[in-house]
Amino acid sequence: MYTQLIDSHGRHIIKLRISVTDRCNFRCVYCMPEEDMAFLPKPEILTFEEIERLARIFVGLGIQKIRLTGGEPLVRRDLPRLVDQLSGIPGLRDLSMTTNGIGLVELAHPLRKAGLDRLNVSLDSLNPEKFMQLTRRDMLQKVLDGLQVAFDAGFSPIRINVVAMRGFTDDELVDFAQFARQHPYRIRFIEFMPLDADHNWEDSKYLPGKEILERIDTVYPLEIVEPKGAPEPATRYRFKDGLGEIGIIPTVSEPFCDSCNRIRLIADGHLRTCLFATRETDLKTPLRNGANDDELRRLIREAVHNKEQGHMINQVGFIRPNRSMSQIGG
Ligand code: SF4
Repeated sequence: MYTQLIDSHGRHIIKLRISVTDRCNFRCVYCMPEEDMAFLPKPEILTFEEIERLARIFVGLGIQKIRLTGGEPLVRRDLPRLVDQLSGIPGLRDLSMTTNGIGLVELAHPLRKAGLDRLNVSLDSLNPEKFMQLTRRDMLQKVLDGLQVAFDAGFSPIRINVVAMRGFTDDELVDFAQFARQHPYRIRFIEFMPLDADHNWEDSKYLPGKEILERIDTVYPLEIVEPKGAPEPATRYRFKDGLGEIGIIPTVSEPFCDSCNRIRLIADGHLRTCLFATRETDLKTPLRNGANDDELRRLIREAVHNKEQGHMINQVGFIRPNRSMSQIGG
């Protein structure tokens, strides 16, 4: 095992998100334009073998948890094969995935069999019309069916990520709380972030975590769940009557960058050390030009050493990344 990945702010980096594609079968308004999305040509995308080689190097450097993302990871053909390749890496403690859920009806069981440990499903509305309005796809029932199949396949607890947007999510906060109380799923509300392809984000358009908490607590009283283990972006709250829990990820209103422990490898082989990074490290070109593992380790350590202190949303000097959420993978 090589020295651990520690950045110049003393943060211990143990989590890696790997975006396996920039493509998606949804067109969520806060992420992608309706049409004319320019996707990466296939040769530009890391192969499964390249992803596996880089993942082995990252785990050797101290990465303990890997999360697969997209775009939508399940549109990448044969994904259970990649899960099988990664789940066998010695030293990898946890392999998870974030998906929009519509591929789970077909793939939840093969993914579980291949060694996937955990699932996060993005679901921003429980109302079919609003779901259609947001994703530009009439697929809410397919996502709900996918959740049930995933639960039957042994994934539990399944986390449901809800992007909380003012004027959109407000009237469903209690519905989502009820959903968490009636199903073995954990709802996590994520504040809307300035990563939408159309650059429509404004400070007034996100629902602050505090407000979400207050509005649910008045109907279903909540109490905090004391955090254990490595820092997590979500603050968890259980319903006082014991019927489930919710989580809040206050990226904009209460940034948690001081305890950030993650980096991102995106589909074209660039390493991003922050969701809001404005610079990246290209690992694909040296890898395809025959670089050995030591050279790749040196590039990774250097990038991590220079990891950004945090995002600067709502601060002077904040620069929007030149990549949208679908190109970064959240
Ligand atoms: S904004 Fe960047 S530094 Fe802050 S938590 Fe997210 S990835 Fe980490």
